[in-house]
Amino acid sequence: MTVGVLALQGSFNEHIAALRRLGVQGIEIRKVEQLLTVSSLIIPGGESTTMAKLAEYHNLFPALREFVKTGKPVWGTCAGLIFLADRAVGQKEGGQELVGGLDCTVHRNFFGSQIQSFEADISVPLLTSKEGGAETFRGVFIRAPAVLDVGPDVEVLAHYPVPSNKVLYSSSTVQIQEEDALPETNVIVAVKQRNLLATAFHPELTADTRWHSYFMKMTTEMEEEATSSTSSTIVS
Ligand code: GLN
Repeated sequence: MTVGVLALQGSFNEHIAALRRLGVQGIEIRKVEQLLTVSSLIIPGGESTTMAKLAEYHNLFPALREFVKTGKPVWGTCAGLIFLADRAVGQKEGGQELVGGLDCTVHRNFFGSQIQSFEADISVPLLTSKEGGAETFRGVFIRAPAVLDVGPDVEVLAHYPVPSNKVLYSSSTVQIQEEDALPETNVIVAVKQRNLLATAFHPELTADTRWHSYFMKMTTEMEEEATSSTSSTIVS
């Protein structure tokens, strides 16, 4: 079982280090041929416009879209979430290319600029262990996006309850479009749609590997499903 980490820009080393702590070897992905060898893929945080330009340069977009369609697990953190979204707002002029597949709208810089970055404990029921371990996760939000709306197949895994006195974004740093949804008190920051997992924050920048463990579980389950459907085809 091999996990690829898109290594064009951003926190790919940190994802590889987190996987290593779980005993999993992450493979740096920069070329289409490399993508074909892995069972699942992590798209790290970073700067989504730069990442998109590099992906375009390496002609990776068609292969990334194909990867998403095959049903192999893909996890996007922060800029990776933006990459996976079907729709993005709060973009610079002209926007940027997206991989898509995740039926949601993201606001690229919902929580503001670099100086408005923050950390907060967020409640994630999914991460509660059978032994009843803590269900909160320390979310690291850096120029973070948020999910404004989700389609019917998208499961919401976590919200960030925005304190009412918090400045979400300022019109001087982010161009707010007329049609942008107004920020709600409970902002969506983690979602899942079948094989796609996305978090607006950066688990790779913490020592807590529960999100990486969860993604490994998704990868193992997908491999088992693929093996059992192959063997049932052979039997029939
Ligand atoms: N908002 C950033 C972008 O648009 C993403 C920030 C991050 O990945 N930390 O790319």
